[in-house]
Amino acid sequence: MHGFDADTEALGEAILKYAEERMRLHPVPLDGPKTLEELQSVAGNTITAEGMGGLAALRLFGDELALACLSNDHPRYLSFIPCAPTEAAVMFEMVVGASGIYAGSWLEGAGAVFAENVALRWIADLAGLPAEAGGVFVPGGTVGNLSALVTARWAARARHTASGSTGPRPTKVAAQAGAHSSIRSACDVMDAELIGVGSDEHLRLTGDNLRAVLEAEGPGTFFAVVATAGTTNFGIVDDLDSVAQVCHEYGIWFHVDGAYGGAGLAAPTVRHLFAGVEHADSFIVDPHKWLFAPFDCCALLYREPALARGAHTQKASYLDVLTDASEWNPTDYSIGLTRRARGLPLWFSLATHGTKAYTAAIERTLQVTRFAEAEITRRPYLEALREADLSVVVFRRKGWEPEDYHAWSDEMMREEFAFVVPTSHEGETVARFAIVNPTTSEDDITAILDTMA
Ligand SMILES: *Cc1c(COP(=O)(O)O)cnc(C)c1O
Repeated sequence: MHGFDADTEALGEAILKYAEERMRLHPVPLDGPKTLEELQSVAGNTITAEGMGGLAALRLFGDELALACLSNDHPRYLSFIPCAPTEAAVMFEMVVGASGIYAGSWLEGAGAVFAENVALRWIADLAGLPAEAGGVFVPGGTVGNLSALVTARWAARARHTASGSTGPRPTKVAAQAGAHSSIRSACDVMDAELIGVGSDEHLRLTGDNLRAVLEAEGPGTFFAVVATAGTTNFGIVDDLDSVAQVCHEYGIWFHVDGAYGGAGLAAPTVRHLFAGVEHADSFIVDPHKWLFAPFDCCALLYREPALARGAHTQKASYLDVLTDASEWNPTDYSIGLTRRARGLPLWFSLATHGTKAYTAAIERTLQVTRFAEAEITRRPYLEALREADLSVVVFRRKGWEPEDYHAWSDEMMREEFAFVVPTSHEGETVARFAIVNPTTSEDDITAILDTMA
């Protein structure tokens, strides 16, 4: 199996050709799910004692399995938060896979870690974090939020111990209802208590509302506050500045979840919404969402990386050679030990295209978002629920019941025309576009809205 013979050569050519052809398709077919029975009947038994051969397995994937996966990068895939990587990033993903890199430590992956850290620094600079800030690329926002909150609790416990306090240690996290489900999940994993803070009339977390909850619960019982810079359902950016001030006043860790919206830091027309992010103790953004990197990639940054090392460094005799070194070991900043250099495709694409191209691509998605809002306003049968902060638009089709939204969405997917699933707000089923793909055009928006007339 190991070694490069004539069969490997033929397989290599076929694989590179397959990847190239997939990248050349603009737009790619949307494709769509099939049932277990359908897949079983076309695939049969694929893993046998003798093996089916690489070319046959590739054919099965290309002809059947790949077609049963929705193309996240389709311009009319506007559900959840899509992923629309650059060709440069996708191609480099293949290079990373072929390069035998362990990117958990400087000793083993110095060159990769160096480049990943350059990409992290770009993000830290966009956020206005200090020169000492640093972190690691983790698989996604869920792991990023959990790792940041574990660090926040470690830091609070260390302070609690150092203060000589005999009272209970802080166990609570504050966030608004629009915070991502992964915050609740992290609290469950940590056995921490999530305390909800009411939002203002714009559905934002504000310093005043936060202060009221901290005072009611006792500020000393909290080890972190989570603000969201771009909620998943609406793209709402919390009032980071006032939240940061209150966190500072009470000495509570300020975590900013920018998994989706953080990319807006690079877009001049929305950058002002992020004022206050520079005070974050920890910050995440998923480049696999709106920064055009392939899955899976979350940038996790800390104001004081030493605190993350305290919380996350694994110690064992077989790791001494790493932990005793003074170099930057990415594994010290999150849950997990072994890691691939998942930040490299982002780094390569940034190095290839330059940051101006990123700003232009993000602004392009914002332009299409504003077009969508104008079209919704213009059409009497549609109504936006709220003006978009970023690139998510939530709107209702007047007169539709939940079944109508679902039937409409199912039909568009069945026809491989668009993938736009409904969401809900305060019990009401509504339509939602998340626009992070620079190839999504005004015509795509018009065509989808026309189907709701
Ligand atoms: C997507 C998202 C997450 C979770 O990120 P994953 O990469 O899916 O784990 C967390 N927070 C927000 C605001 C998100 O939009």
